[in-house]
Amino acid sequence: MKTQLAMVIDASRCWDCKACMAACKTANKVPEGQWRNWIKSVDLDLVEPGGGRLIFQPGNCMHCSEPLCIKACPTGATYRNEADGTVLINRELCIGCGQCLPACPYGARFRHAELRVADKCDFCAERRAAGLEPACVATCPTKARAFGNLADPESEVARLLKRNESVQLVQAKSPTDPNIRYLGNPGRTDWPVEAQMPSAFGFWKNVAGPVVKIFVGFSALGFGAMLAKQLFLPDHPEEDRQPEEKRHE
Ligand code: SF4
Repeated sequence: MKTQLAMVIDASRCWDCKACMAACKTANKVPEGQWRNWIKSVDLDLVEPGGGRLIFQPGNCMHCSEPLCIKACPTGATYRNEADGTVLINRELCIGCGQCLPACPYGARFRHAELRVADKCDFCAERRAAGLEPACVATCPTKARAFGNLADPESEVARLLKRNESVQLVQAKSPTDPNIRYLGNPGRTDWPVEAQMPSAFGFWKNVAGPVVKIFVGFSALGFGAMLAKQLFLPDHPEEDRQPEEKRHE
């Protein structure tokens, strides 16, 4: 069965405690002042006159099925993981050019303050590899977030979407088919902005990408040579090179 990991968020359950943001920051070692996820607060009165209450809309990278960030990346560092449909960043290939940042209609990306490469939510790849749910899902005290395989009709996310009306946040001029769905009324849905794609796109894609891959290839070769040296060369080569008689002195 095909896998498409997705998140279903019931905004009406969110009370803005920010536990999901703190859990994400800790689990993914996100630098101070930067965040991989967010909670937007919207006065429902602005959305539905007479609504008269605040609504909180949690979010993070939407792991879009048609991600514009991938199109903007010149080196192939941002890619779609075909095994589970997530959009990921290969830090080795990222040159920190920042072209992908304005290409995301949701502002989900930022330049990691310490590593100087693009960063964003990866649905907690490390935790998932250990069999755990994303930190924000596991931590939410009101269970506002559900996570799972959208392509599996028996999954919680698929069943929630079958039972309830849902909405995607889509920017009309930059549609990306996001894989976060909101139940009920998530408040404002018109905040995503039009994507800004790199102007010298062809140049970047055709020149920067291959150059970076060559450099990464050289590093890998260097690493391979080092490893081979450790494995196959004797511990004390100097001693081995000594003439026979000298070894017996
Ligand atoms: Fe890329 Fe933005 Fe979509 Fe995430 S939300 S996959 S960063 S376009």
